[in-house]
Amino acid sequence: MLKTQELFLKQALRVARQNDMAEKKKNMIDCQEVMQNLFLFLDHEVDEMTEEEISHHLTQCQSCLSRVKFEKGIEESIRKAEDTKASSGLHDRVGKILKKL
Ligand SMILES: [Zn+2]
Repeated sequence: MLKTQELFLKQALRVARQNDMAEKKKNMIDCQEVMQNLFLFLDHEVDEMTEEEISHHLTQCQSCLSRVKFEKGIEESIRKAEDTKASSGLHDRVGKILKKL
């Protein structure tokens, strides 16, 4: 192999590696981005790629994971409260119907 060819290939390989690393860094999201998208993520309103990135981040980052668990807990208790309200509303309606009978 000619010396210039070898140098050229080495250079090309180095550029390719740098691009690859830059690409990986770009794809990695940080805690701030997770927090920015947290509610959308919980509502499944982020795009597939972001959802995957956040999920991946959560497997690596304990602090974001506990934040997600915390938010999910709040969300669930709100949902439970709404359920209770809904069923008591239903209870009232059923009660009124029964009175008419
Ligand atoms: Zn994090």
